[in-house]
Amino acid sequence: MPQGRHFLQIPGPSPVPDRVLRAMDMPVIDHRSSEFAELGKTVFDGCQKIFKTNGPVIIFPSSGTGAWEAAIVNTLSPGDKVLMVETGHFATLWRQMAARWGIEVDFIPGDWRHGADPADIEARLVQDEKRAIKAVMVVHNETSTGVTSRVGEIRAAMDRAGHQALLLVDTISSLGSVDYRHDEWKVDVTVSCSQKGFMLPPGLGFNAVSEKARAAAKINKMPRSYWDWDEMLKPNAAGFFPYTPATNLLYGLREAIAMLLEEGLDAVFARHKRLAAATRAAITHWGLEVLCLEPAEYSPVLTAVLMPPGHDADKFRKTVLDTYNMSLGSGLSKLAGKVFRIGHLGECNELTLIGALSGVEMGLSAAGVPHRAGGVEAAMKSLEERPQSNSPAHLKVVKPDRVADHRDG
Ligand SMILES: *Cc1c(COP(=O)(O)O)cnc(C)c1O
Repeated sequence: MPQGRHFLQIPGPSPVPDRVLRAMDMPVIDHRSSEFAELGKTVFDGCQKIFKTNGPVIIFPSSGTGAWEAAIVNTLSPGDKVLMVETGHFATLWRQMAARWGIEVDFIPGDWRHGADPADIEARLVQDEKRAIKAVMVVHNETSTGVTSRVGEIRAAMDRAGHQALLLVDTISSLGSVDYRHDEWKVDVTVSCSQKGFMLPPGLGFNAVSEKARAAAKINKMPRSYWDWDEMLKPNAAGFFPYTPATNLLYGLREAIAMLLEEGLDAVFARHKRLAAATRAAITHWGLEVLCLEPAEYSPVLTAVLMPPGHDADKFRKTVLDTYNMSLGSGLSKLAGKVFRIGHLGECNELTLIGALSGVEMGLSAAGVPHRAGGVEAAMKSLEERPQSNSPAHLKVVKPDRVADHRDG
């Protein structure tokens, strides 16, 4: 039996903080009671702060995939045309789902190493003289590749094209870890779920919806029942659900939102960027290659690493799991065996990350993967050069040379 705590360094589900686990360790209550209504109102309110919207956020007892489906069936009709971008595995899956609902998808091809290009989207929309495209659907953080698309710039491109298409965004692995603004970026449906940046167990799916999306839902022709927004919004207004909600996950959600707001969303986003930069410092030092090719699109949530030719990423992951009790993310579909992914989202802090990177470095040795030793040291340097997540904002950044003095003295 492995000793100590398992290191769950996959990019979702992410580790659930003890505080959230304790908040969920509660008796199930009557979901028609006034006590429940208080819980409901608190989480709906809190979600608005995390999604940065004044509009409603709908919470389904579902995985992220369910919330994807809700976004489609509430806004589109069979035969509608949409524009999507092949950023990786998850964009491809969402496209497949849309196709199953009879949606015609114009899928801009991609190399799985770049995000959705705002200029490409703008050009397609400008070409669409008949205004046949009903929605642009993008994955904010492509969890299969570690590439974050620039949603704010995509919105600006849509505005420049003067196109009225809806904007549907998958923030399943970015929300609560990467800067995101539903209202400011005029996103019509933001799709998310519980088990990644929200630091909860799997089981909640989210749709933040704009006025424009609700108007589309009034006239679209797609059969739906469980996923119907209106069914939800009526009881939600009073803090209730139309059916039995995932009550204990909502306790957890209330706590997770409190944690995110206590740290401050900007500090949360900065922490993720800092951890991601340190991870890349280690990878570069090892002489391995980061999959993402565009520095402006490096994911703060996870980093996908290319294995050197002749070495299998899944064998390496198995070595790490068997030897050091740490789970790393696998390469998905066409990246299977070629990449492994290091998750650094949610509850992750500096020491968790250094532990994880140590496991990767020792795993590289154990699996006989050629690399230059000292990547963990490079990651530590990277962290020392930036303020730590636990230090109060008023403390000055400790320069690396001062740290050296400190150690000597
Ligand atoms: C995890 C993930 C999904 C799928 O979510 P499930 O909860 O597994 O259904 C979809 N999109 C992205 C970007 C993801 O990271």
